[in-house]
Amino acid sequence: MNKFEQLGLNPALLKAIEDMGFESPSEVQEKAIPILLQKDTDMVALAQTGTGKTAAFGFPLIQKINAESRQTQGLILSPTRELCLQITNELKNYAKHTPGLHTVAIYGGASITDQAKLIQRGAQIIVATPGRMQDMINRRMVDISKIEYCILDEADEMLNMGFFEDITAILSHTPKEKHTWLFSATMPQEVSTIAKKFMRTPVEITVGNKNQGTANVSHEYYAVNSRDRYSALKRLADANPDIFSVVFCRTKRDTQKVAEQLIEDGYNAAALHGDLSQNQRDLVMKSFRGRQIQMLVATDVAARGIDVDDITHVIHYQLPDEPEIYTHRSGRTGRAGKSGVSMVIMTKSELRKIKSIERIIKQPFEQKEIPDGMEICR
Ligand code: ADP
Ligand code: MG
Repeated sequence: MNKFEQLGLNPALLKAIEDMGFESPSEVQEKAIPILLQKDTDMVALAQTGTGKTAAFGFPLIQKINAESRQTQGLILSPTRELCLQITNELKNYAKHTPGLHTVAIYGGASITDQAKLIQRGAQIIVATPGRMQDMINRRMVDISKIEYCILDEADEMLNMGFFEDITAILSHTPKEKHTWLFSATMPQEVSTIAKKFMRTPVEITVGNKNQGTANVSHEYYAVNSRDRYSALKRLADANPDIFSVVFCRTKRDTQKVAEQLIEDGYNAAALHGDLSQNQRDLVMKSFRGRQIQMLVATDVAARGIDVDDITHVIHYQLPDEPEIYTHRSGRTGRAGKSGVSMVIMTKSELRKIKSIERIIKQPFEQKEIPDGMEICR
């Protein structure tokens, strides 16, 4: 018997797990799945990014849903449209051998009436961003009064993005008897407020250190003059020819500018930010996943929670204001047990920020020099 069988998952799920090539459950899966399957309970699960939280709630959810009824039974709230699509795709893979199970993704930037139609056809699981969900509730396009399971995924990121009120409003439309499963990488105050307010004696699961989001990641900083940021970025890329990275900028404008400059200089780069159309964003993500793009230059909002395999480097072209955002950014690499490097390009005056990040991640940074000499092959 493999370890997934011991968790109590049904044959349809075990077959899908085999198809996906998962050999054994991750720690959060091992802890959460048996409890969610056996008990009807609320749960708060804390585990760093890249530890397999989607399957930790996705497997039990699929097993518990009654696929013979077309009633909406499960609602998953997630911070961004990219994440909604990612979770929906994952759930479709998990449910590959579970006939009759329908999942729809609900997010802004796409036709609301098309999405409403999909729900009306009968989707047992809705994966939604809080903003669009709230909109659909207001327009009476969706009925969540009979859901049995509500999942708050990446709860810390949703609350960071200012969705507290939307989440509260959405939960008020759900029945009291449902069960709420909250998954998060970190536990800031707002997350515990939500948990206290909306959950009944949740089972708590913690994997690893509560506020540590980046265990497999090594952290480096490169102090440069402000005007040398861009050439520093190029040198770092040149020194790592197989780089497959997300480069974070603070604003949409800088994101666009850096991406354009990189493309002009012959790098495989693209921009990802909120001023692009949904279609453009989907195309960029597709090329990135397909490795046609080596450097995805992104804003924090656009890149939140993105799970792309084997990202080698996260580059902070500019440091964020909040140390928690640093944790989220760096969590794009070092996923599924792999190692990764997080590189900060900064000015000497930002050393204070590095110190406060070190306190949060509980790991030291290594101070490094920008690789010297001629730029290679450009
Ligand atoms: P999190 O939500 O905790 O950040 P994800 O659910 O996005 O993490 O999973 C991260 C990656 O790990 C995904 O690519 C997923 O397919 C993979 N993964 C999840 N569980 C397993 C497992 N048991 N074995 C191998 N890979 C897994
Ligand atoms: Mg996740």
